[in-house]
Amino acid sequence: MTKEDKRGYCTLCRSRCGTVNVVANDALIEVRPDTSHPTGKAMCMKGKSAPELVHSADRLLYPMRRTNPKTDADPGWQRISWDEALSEVARRMLQARHDGGAESVAFAVTTPSGTPLSDSIDWIERFIRLFGSPNTCYATEICNWHKDYAHAFTFGCGMPTADYRNANLIVLWGHNPTNTWLAQAEAIGAGRAAGAKLLVVDPRETALAGQADQWLRVRPGTDAVLAMAIANLLIEANAFDLAFVRQWTNGPLLVRNDNGRLLRGRDVGLADGEACLVWDACAGQVRPSSALAGRDFEQVALRGTFEVGNANRPGPPPSPAGPPSTCTQANAPAIRRTLPRHSPGWRRRRSATRPACSARLSAWPITRGPASASMTMRPRRTGRLPASTP
Ligand code: SF4
Repeated sequence: MTKEDKRGYCTLCRSRCGTVNVVANDALIEVRPDTSHPTGKAMCMKGKSAPELVHSADRLLYPMRRTNPKTDADPGWQRISWDEALSEVARRMLQARHDGGAESVAFAVTTPSGTPLSDSIDWIERFIRLFGSPNTCYATEICNWHKDYAHAFTFGCGMPTADYRNANLIVLWGHNPTNTWLAQAEAIGAGRAAGAKLLVVDPRETALAGQADQWLRVRPGTDAVLAMAIANLLIEANAFDLAFVRQWTNGPLLVRNDNGRLLRGRDVGLADGEACLVWDACAGQVRPSSALAGRDFEQVALRGTFEVGNANRPGPPPSPAGPPSTCTQANAPAIRRTLPRHSPGWRRRRSATRPACSARLSAWPITRGPASASMTMRPRRTGRLPASTP
């Protein structure tokens, strides 16, 4: 029997571990890790069992048509050609779209995370959109939706893979790559061997939580409390990128003290009534955030309380005929008004983290950059999705 090693990767989940596939007589007989591959340092038992899957007698290899009704104990499966199957499915789908509109067809898609669908999902989603139906029943892990789409909505792309190998601090928040993403688990091991600290936020004592330098055992549903507490620590220590926050976030937008709403152009008599405003520390007056460019951002205040009058006449406006008297604070202090109660002590009570961890946590996110974080925390409750949600 002639054996041949063929290099590739396992497609049975999104870890895509590099593999050496041993083939004999056109049959896959063994799969082992390809240690020369970036993700091939280890494989799980599912990947190593690939030969059993490939050559299983139960594996479906051809399109089959059911010839008996579903009430019949015998389905009466009949093998048909691929052309025949595709033509029939296409014809019936087009008929459904013609009769009831594209919305009448709902597509059910399995998870791309733990199945071989990982490499195909983009094409399937493209097909669904081309067909025109907004209805997708998407089976995915509870961590996936917000990991993929919250970041896409916020930053314009999904969460990239963290650079664990070169991090000083590795934060795993509701993420258990030992079980779910073997290549990442291996990279975390390499990062730790190079000196990175490991911080795990998880109610469960996962394998990595057990080994972590800090394990914050949050009570399920209280992740947001811990996140707010860490945000508070970062703001108090000025341990964030001021230039980035000024230019790319809503941190500088002014908030009215009288009603807690954003200060708008109409509040100060600007022609653009919808404009959100910031405080120009050099000019000593408000400016529409949309009018800022280049070095303008350097003058934008991130902290402070400001008396804002008519845009053309700085100072408190006349009342009641003029625009409303607005004493405003930049958004960052507005956030801080909420955050102080999220102190480590408060966090311990509400979030059920261990006291010793909380004290040490205060310095790490601030002092141990660069940090690589994978955050797949579960939302406490979900709201209605916007109609355009993919
Ligand atoms: S973790 Fe297992 S199933 Fe996933 S790609 Fe690696 S070997 Fe395959």
